[in-house]
Amino acid sequence: MEIVDILIIGAGPIGLNCALEAKKNNLNYLIIEKGTIVNSLYNYPLYMKFFSTADKLEIAEIPFISAAPKPGRQEALEYYQGIARQKNININLYEKVLKVSKNGEIFEIQTSKSKYTAKNVIISTGFYDIPNLMNIPGENLEKVKHYYTEPYPFTKQKIVVIGSSNSSVDAALETYRKGAEVTMIIRNSEISSNVKYWVKPDIENRIAEGSIKAHFGSELIEIEENSVIFKDEQGKINEIENDFVLAMTGYLPDFDFLKNSGIDLQGECLNPVYNPETMETTVPNLYLAGVVCGGKDTHLWFIENSRIHAEMIMKSIISK
Ligand code: FAD
Repeated sequence: MEIVDILIIGAGPIGLNCALEAKKNNLNYLIIEKGTIVNSLYNYPLYMKFFSTADKLEIAEIPFISAAPKPGRQEALEYYQGIARQKNININLYEKVLKVSKNGEIFEIQTSKSKYTAKNVIISTGFYDIPNLMNIPGENLEKVKHYYTEPYPFTKQKIVVIGSSNSSVDAALETYRKGAEVTMIIRNSEISSNVKYWVKPDIENRIAEGSIKAHFGSELIEIEENSVIFKDEQGKINEIENDFVLAMTGYLPDFDFLKNSGIDLQGECLNPVYNPETMETTVPNLYLAGVVCGGKDTHLWFIENSRIHAEMIMKSIISK
């Protein structure tokens, strides 16, 4: 069996950047991706806009030309998938990595289709595959969505949106504008300060004028077929009619996969332990790249600030 220099797990923007950096340094590499190229972006809301300008999303100094300053999902798909095609990136799609283990100096990688061996492994698996569950009764009902794609299914429906992050606010505004009756249930006392600066006044004004209802300091406690039950800031239990719940409660990295690969997870946020200068974990030659590095703190890393991981990793690999 051929031993590749670098096996990269995940073809998100950062996995692709690692592949391009490996190629630049004449190292042989293979990406294994469980979905399509930039699978997380493929699953984003259809009409989302990045908060970053196009130049901040560029990889390998390849220009990202966008008509608007902040590109949307389709332009980003064109950009990253276009790079993968044009640069002929070596990538296996629809193949999930199940296990990474070490036999002496060599990694053995078991996937859903085959087995591989590699001298170095980069885990760039992101955090978009596992929803952060509320763990309340009724969460498993069909009407509860952890991924929001577009507003049209929700017209003339009673929608509850959980949370006040960018995803929650975008979903609330879009569904309201397509005729949904929207109620937000928000743990905090105000809209998150992370919400895009040009969107925040819009949601605050819709709430102030009563077009979108919002219950701050409140928590959803149960979901039933035709209603939801929540506790408000006075501790009072309320039941309201409901057709759909958009539970925009965030996502988590696959901690079991990280742990089983031998990576130490520390603290409340289960932060993976790695050397911040090389991105190498405590398992020699096993590296982390991209937003997976933040553990539960998924606001720490973005494409913008994790693009540099690829170069740091290749420097470390070459120096050995
Ligand atoms: P991902 O893009 O998540 O890639 C990980 C890949 O690994 C996926 O393709 C996945 O299918 C694959 N994978 C996972 N597990 C396995 C496995 N076991 N085997 C094989 N493959 C696997 N960042 C910015 O800088 N600017 C923005 O404006 C911005 N907007 C955002 C908007 C939204 C709605 C979201 C959710 C995030 C946004 N981010 C933004 C954050 C950042 O863009 C994304 O999180 C980005 O996708 C991170 O890139 P990544 O390569 O680290 O991970």
